[in-house]
Amino acid sequence: RAKQDGRGVFRFFEPGLDAAARQRRQMELDLREALHNGQFRLDYQPIFDLKADRICGFEALMRWEHPRRGLVSPAEFIPVAEESGLIVAMGEWAMHEACREAIRWPDPLRVAVNVSAIQFRNSGFADIVVQALARSGLDPHRLEIEITESIFLEGSGPTLDLLHKLHALGCRIALDDFGTGYSSLSYLRSFPFDKIKIDRSFVINVADDVGAAAIVRAIVDLAGALDMETTAEGVEDSEQLAALRSQGCSSIQGFLFSRPLTTEGVARLLKDQRRDVMPTVSAPVQRL
Ligand code: C2E
Ligand code: MG
Ligand code: MG
Ligand code: MG
Repeated sequence: RAKQDGRGVFRFFEPGLDAAARQRRQMELDLREALHNGQFRLDYQPIFDLKADRICGFEALMRWEHPRRGLVSPAEFIPVAEESGLIVAMGEWAMHEACREAIRWPDPLRVAVNVSAIQFRNSGFADIVVQALARSGLDPHRLEIEITESIFLEGSGPTLDLLHKLHALGCRIALDDFGTGYSSLSYLRSFPFDKIKIDRSFVINVADDVGAAAIVRAIVDLAGALDMETTAEGVEDSEQLAALRSQGCSSIQGFLFSRPLTTEGVARLLKDQRRDVMPTVSAPVQRL
């Protein structure tokens, strides 16, 4: 009786928290099970090089086929995986899986793998990359590691050491979601990133908002001066594409060209390698 009252009182004061906390706990258990039962897969979204006029690689994006809920968005499960620390094991799986998949693609094509700051800070991270490369046989130059500005939150010394170590292995490093985090321009000077990914929130308005256009231009110019490439994320229409092209952006990624594809979709896309039938921005993947 007393217990029930206690619970009732708790619910009365914190009505949302209880349910939310329970839901998170359930998802954590489900994630643990998913990892063991192979419920994760990676889809791959093409990245299109505007200067070479062809696909230069794919970004691996994690998908979770939940047995009861169906497909769950990474926006929902990645934060829970990060809080619970499960992201370390999930990220290790993704690194191996992505390298194993990419070795089947034609040689210059790269795979980009998202790495959470928590996974990055875990002491075993460099070894996992070394192992994934060794076991798959993938040329390190074909692996691009996507990290976000949040890796710089906890001091930059060890972070820079690790970035240099990964570079020494031959991996490329891309700075994802640029402009949305705890941005500081100083780390752009202290580390030679290979690529800056311009966040979708700037790309979305690049064709019709002077402010967004100015920010995109500034990022592209800055990247160029520092000898870094740029990829615009979330390109959805041809007006955005035209604006990005005129601003000298190196590559684009987005629904305009292609949604993330299953491995079967990638195989279909790559099957016909002849240049004249490769998809272009004007004849994008979804219409093939
Ligand atoms: P991200 O790394 O910035 O990935 C780009 C996201 O934008 C993907 O969402 C992609 O599907 C979506 N996207 C691409 N083109 C368009 C477009 O034209 N319009 C719109 N509206 N969206 C577009 P997704 O797959 O839902 O992933 C969301 C985020 O979850 C990723 O953002 C990344 O931060 C995280 N994530 C995904 N897979 C992994 C992973 O394997 N490891 C880690 N640590 N994080 C991951
Ligand atoms: Mg990414
Ligand atoms: Mg991004
Ligand atoms: Mg993002």
